[in-house]
Amino acid sequence: MPIPPIIWIIFLFALGSSVGSFINVVVYRLPREMSIVRPGSHCTLCEHPIAWYDNVPIIAWFLLRGRCRHCGGSFSIRYPMVELLTALLFVMLYWAYFLGEVREGLTDLSYGRWLIYIGHMVLICGLLVSSLIDGEHWIIPLSVSYTVVGAALILSMIWPYFVAAAAEPLLNPAPWASIKTGALALGGAAGLGLSMILLKFGLIKRSFADYDQEQEQPQGEKKHAPPNARAEQGVKGEEIGIDLPPNIIRREMFREVIFLLPVVAGAVVLMSVLTSGGSPASGWGRLILGQKWLCGLLGSVFGFMIGGGVVWATRIGGSLAFGKEAMGLGDVPLMAAVGAMLGWTSPVIAFFLAPFMGLSWALARLLIHRTREIPYGPFLSMATVIVMLAHDIIVQWFIESFTLGPATVGI
Ligand SMILES: [Zn+2]
Repeated sequence: MPIPPIIWIIFLFALGSSVGSFINVVVYRLPREMSIVRPGSHCTLCEHPIAWYDNVPIIAWFLLRGRCRHCGGSFSIRYPMVELLTALLFVMLYWAYFLGEVREGLTDLSYGRWLIYIGHMVLICGLLVSSLIDGEHWIIPLSVSYTVVGAALILSMIWPYFVAAAAEPLLNPAPWASIKTGALALGGAAGLGLSMILLKFGLIKRSFADYDQEQEQPQGEKKHAPPNARAEQGVKGEEIGIDLPPNIIRREMFREVIFLLPVVAGAVVLMSVLTSGGSPASGWGRLILGQKWLCGLLGSVFGFMIGGGVVWATRIGGSLAFGKEAMGLGDVPLMAAVGAMLGWTSPVIAFFLAPFMGLSWALARLLIHRTREIPYGPFLSMATVIVMLAHDIIVQWFIESFTLGPATVGI
C-alpha cells in the first residue's frame, strides 16, 4: 500500500526543520571559519551547551521565548524562521514534484522521482546557505557551491538509470548531454583543467591578485578573499565596493578572459573534432548515447559551464563596458552549481529572472541607504527555486513563441 501524501508531508516538514537547524549552524560558523561539527550547539553568549530539548527546531525557540535558559541572552528570531522556511521548502518541492507534477519525466512512481527530489533539495539547501551568508557578509563561500557541484556530478551519473528521458530534450528533468553538448562539455572541462594548472604554476595570474594583498581593503574583488577577512569587512561597513580605477578593472578583466580562453577553445575544438561525422552512428555518438552515466555526467558538466559562463560573461562584459566591477565572482560558482544539478536551461532562465526580483529591493535600498551595491546571491537563489517549479512552462513557452522544434534547437 502506498504511503499517503499527508504522512510524507509531516515527515518532510520534520526533516526539513531539522535540516534548517543545521543550516543555522553552517550559516553562523562557516564565515567565521569554525568547525561545522564540533563543538555541539551552544549559546554564543555564555558558551553553555544547549540540551536537545532546548534545540527542537522551531518549537524550542518559542517555548524559551527566544532566550537562553542559562544566561537569559536572546537568540534571534531568524533561527526559527530559517527552520520554518527550510521545512516549507521541503514540503513545497514534494508537493510540486509528486502531487503537482510540474516537471515532465517525473510522472512515474519510480525511485527516480525521489532521487531527483533529493538532489534538488541539496541544491535548495545550498542556495539557502549561500543566500543567508551573502545577505549578511557579502560573500558566497566556494565550499557551499562546490559541495553542491560534487553531489550533482555523482547524482547525474545515477539519474539516467532511474529517470525517463523527456520527449523534448529541453524538458529533461535531469542533465542530459546530446552528441554536441557532450563534446562541448568534455572539451570545456579539459580547457578548464588546463587553465587551473596554468594558474597553479603561476603562468597566468588570478584577477585582482595584486589588490588582495597590497591593500588593506581589497575592494576590487567582492567575493573572493578569505571568508574571515570579508566577514569583518561586511560587518564593519556596508559599502565594501569602493571602486578601483576603470583602467585597472579592465586590465583585471583581461586576466579573467585569458583564464577562460582555454575553456572556450577546448569546447570548440573538441566539438568540431568529435561531431565532424555528425551522425549518431559515429564513434562518439555511439559512446554518448550508449553510456547513460556518461550522458548524465557530461550533461551536468555542460550545465556547470553554461551556468557559470552566463554569469562570468556578464561580469566581464559589464565590467569592460562600465569600468566598474559588475557582479561578484562568487556568483559564478553558485550558478555553475545550479547548472550542474538542474541542467543548462535552468541557470540561464534564472539569471534573466533574478534582476526582476532584485530590482524593487535595490530601488528601495538606493532610496533608503543610498548605496547601489546589493548582494545578488539571494535573488539568483529565489529565481532558481521559481525556475525549478516553472521550468517546463517557461521552456515550452519559448519553444512555441519562437517555433523552435527540437530539430532547430539541435542541442
Ligand atoms: Zn547563554
